[in-house]
Amino acid sequence: MKKCKDFCDQLSDYLDKELGARECVLIQEHLEKCAPCALIFEGLKTTVIVCSEGISDEVPEEVKMRLKEFLRTNCTAE
Ligand SMILES: [Zn+2]
Repeated sequence: MKKCKDFCDQLSDYLDKELGARECVLIQEHLEKCAPCALIFEGLKTTVIVCSEGISDEVPEEVKMRLKEFLRTNCTAE
């Protein structure tokens, strides 16, 4: 079982489609079980879509930081 911290580290790669099929499945399974991660993933996904349409196709550092901060305070599945 993946921990939220590991999940969080891979989330931006997942959104950038830099992960293999196996990692993607693990992340999808985690999203189904972990409400805080699912919530932040939705927010991050929206940000990435906005970025890829405009300024950058990479997840901004600020968003990654916010994601980690959010998980540290909200995620209890660790
Ligand atoms: Zn989680």
